[in-house]
Amino acid sequence: MLTHPNTGQTFGSPVAPGTGWPGDPATAQTPVAADAAQVVTLAREAGSIPELDAVISVCRACPRLVTWREDVAVAKRRAFADQPYWGRPVPGWGSERPWLLIVGLAPAAHGANRTGRMFTGDRSGDQLYAALYRAGLVNQPISIDAADGLRANQIRIVAPVRCAPPANAPTPAERLTCSPWLDAEWRLVADEVRVIVALGGFAWQVALGLPGLARTAGGRKPKFGHGVVADLPSGVRLLGCYHPSQQNMFTGRLTPAMLDDIFTKAKKRAGIN
Ligand code: SF4
Repeated sequence: MLTHPNTGQTFGSPVAPGTGWPGDPATAQTPVAADAAQVVTLAREAGSIPELDAVISVCRACPRLVTWREDVAVAKRRAFADQPYWGRPVPGWGSERPWLLIVGLAPAAHGANRTGRMFTGDRSGDQLYAALYRAGLVNQPISIDAADGLRANQIRIVAPVRCAPPANAPTPAERLTCSPWLDAEWRLVADEVRVIVALGGFAWQVALGLPGLARTAGGRKPKFGHGVVADLPSGVRLLGCYHPSQQNMFTGRLTPAMLDDIFTKAKKRAGIN
């Protein structure tokens, strides 16, 4: 057992459901999806965002990813050797009735897989949340752990794959197995969402595949690019943004000013104050 760096409570790695981890949506009784069919069933049955977050956070449907996320949680990175690791799937984070949805890729092994919150505890998250703060979409510029007081202003951050994958590369089968979770999340928030920001080309494709979002009568699907804006038939505006990965930020392919431009536009279009 190790001590949470913020709350001082002790936890094993991975964290057992319902043991007091900040923001843990599950309990020891939360049903566990053990295969793809059970993901479909539990995703369909989820009637609210808290219910959905809970079942996602204990999912064990992809054997390779379960092994990886838990092995990473036990082995840890040297810099975090004294911390417990979440080591479970990472649910969406933010408003339950968002006007702006941000779609990423998958949790980072030593970021969200450690802290249990989307984009929290790694360099990508540092860049993303700093930009969201400058745009007035979160209440503080840093995101350190799940007890740091971060609050969303009508945004929600989601991912098409909820477990940290080896080499940041989920297989096509794992993406497919995980997809009902995002489809269910979309069903629960779609009535409110006015703008989606897709972080990278894969997120763009995923967003265009959300149920009912981009259906056209044989029309061509818009192509991803940074700054590309697609007004979809459903009325939702989709914005493309390079992923704020360490590589993209380090090489200058994506700059803080470019992130500011995207999120300022997204906020305005979504009508968020
Ligand atoms: S990737 Fe998705 S479906 Fe697979 S184990 Fe994680 S949460 Fe479950």
